[in-house]
Amino acid sequence: MNGYAGKFLRVDLTREKLTDEVFDEATLRAYVGGTGIGAKVLYDEVPPGVAWNDPENRVILASGPLGGSTIPGSGSYTVTTKGPLTNGASVSQANGFFGAYLRFCGYDGVIVQGAAKRWVYIHITENGAELKDASHLLGKDTWETDDLIKGELGRKERAMSIACIGPAGENLVRVAAVCNDKGHVAGHNGPGAVMGSKKLKAIAVDRGRFRPTYSDSKRLTEIAKGITTKLRGDGDPAKATFFNFGTLNGVTQQAQPGGWLPVKNYLTQIYDISPDDLERYSGKYIRGNFEPKPNPCWACPCHHCHMMKIPYGPYKGEIVEEQEYEGFVAFGPVTGQTDVAATAVLSNDVDRWGMEVNELGYLMGMAIECYEKGIINREDTDGVELKWGNAPATREMLRKIAFRDGFGNVLAEGVMRASRLIGGEAPNMAVHTMKGNSVRGHDHRVLWVELFDTCTSSTGTIETHRGSPKDQYGMPAEMNFFDPDNVVDFVAKAKSATPFSDSIGTCRFCVGLDTRNHVEAVRAATGWDFTFDEAVGVGLRSVNLLRAFNLRHGIGPELDRPSPRYGSTPVDGVAAGVGIMPHWDGMVRNYYQQMGWDPKTSKPLPETLKNLGLEQVAVDLWG
Ligand code: SF4
Repeated sequence: MNGYAGKFLRVDLTREKLTDEVFDEATLRAYVGGTGIGAKVLYDEVPPGVAWNDPENRVILASGPLGGSTIPGSGSYTVTTKGPLTNGASVSQANGFFGAYLRFCGYDGVIVQGAAKRWVYIHITENGAELKDASHLLGKDTWETDDLIKGELGRKERAMSIACIGPAGENLVRVAAVCNDKGHVAGHNGPGAVMGSKKLKAIAVDRGRFRPTYSDSKRLTEIAKGITTKLRGDGDPAKATFFNFGTLNGVTQQAQPGGWLPVKNYLTQIYDISPDDLERYSGKYIRGNFEPKPNPCWACPCHHCHMMKIPYGPYKGEIVEEQEYEGFVAFGPVTGQTDVAATAVLSNDVDRWGMEVNELGYLMGMAIECYEKGIINREDTDGVELKWGNAPATREMLRKIAFRDGFGNVLAEGVMRASRLIGGEAPNMAVHTMKGNSVRGHDHRVLWVELFDTCTSSTGTIETHRGSPKDQYGMPAEMNFFDPDNVVDFVAKAKSATPFSDSIGTCRFCVGLDTRNHVEAVRAATGWDFTFDEAVGVGLRSVNLLRAFNLRHGIGPELDRPSPRYGSTPVDGVAAGVGIMPHWDGMVRNYYQQMGWDPKTSKPLPETLKNLGLEQVAVDLWG
């Protein structure tokens, strides 16, 4: 079949049995890959009553029909599971090489079930797959694991891609991530802890020689060239900021001037930093001073990912992966830090221990605020002085979290649970949704689309993006994002774009969220007369499946809300005195109605499900 490698690898760890599995064309067309297929397998195979750490939970890692093609950034893959922060669906995407290499071994994805009796890793080649002993890898971080597996299998750096967990995943830390290619992370809602619960340390994939066939390779190459031209700014270098610097200018050129930098755990929006220190957060400064070495993903022309060397201060000489905007933010403003070198080192530590950077930022922000306000003291924190901007203390606490050591064992439970364990006023200081996951690296009280979407999402992270082109939904380009009706209209209409984009096997940074472009590429890859409406259907199918999954697993509409701090009214900054909560209940009712869900229970209505071909789900929910 054009566009597909043609099979998935199913790994039953309990029985140590590895088999190939084929999805028929109708199923692939309805779910495409990545998030779509992940949602289907999760819903079909993980019934209510199966906890996140039950062997019957599944971990699905899937590419899509563009994986490993000439389309920029087509090494991406999605991890879907039932996650430990929300006890509901967990969907996360990572870039790098893993998705492409899976396809080069003849697999569109991997479905893992059961739990091994001993620590293992999976080695996938173009001739099949096998389980290998991983006991010698225990305690190793994600970079060490990568080096050790490649060393013992005799593979050079780019001859293999490895998705693995660090000590955090082994120790069932609820914010543990799956990391691949030293710096790419699928981390929302703790998928690394699920791998840990299965005693699965890594999945190592050779760069095989198999190549999927494409219906119209010439057209696919034209589309790839068009994407690259657009990334380069269509001839205008001023428009090529991402192409040249990735997300490095996110703080200085976007969040700080836009007023949506999250500062000191959402206590303020004023980042108290000198102009010189702020300038060090810019792409120009970092690329000019940190000895960057390009480290791009599969088929990516962007000057985005780099390795670099810390040039000054206590961490001088350390080699780290250049941090993303969210790394800057988590260990800069959120934790009251102003030294950009420290943000690089701390976010790199989080990757190496195998955790998710946003969760760790808000965890440390909450713990530091508790310490500064006397809710916890040095005795509670094993002598670690958790003060705003104390990088060495934060570094030590990150290690303690990964190993569940002392006070780290409390924080390893994630922001919501840790704040409840600390008690007192702590739960009022924690930034999270009431489902239990924390949030991305912006002050969403200034970005209501993100706040509303994060809270009503079923995936353990945001489900849509304010950058989705509005004209594709027939919406005006200009919107008032502080208008409750506008916000709900946009979130409901744009709902399908991200899950569809994460189903085709490409990087969102490269290919963007214009579904019309994705449809063109899927048509060229598969030869299907695939339409925009079909793509919307694929996205909505996964959104509705995951809502139904969560409802059946006990996550009801009462949890579609922010924590008190997350939903609080800003006291300063561009939205001082303007809060979303007075509008909340009306927005949620409007949203359920636009999504075709029951206004009280949020259950997708039978006709909504039937229109998406989800008749069995209608029976499951409505009888
Ligand atoms: S844009 Fe960045 S994350 Fe995306 S594929 Fe390119 S290098 Fe990787």
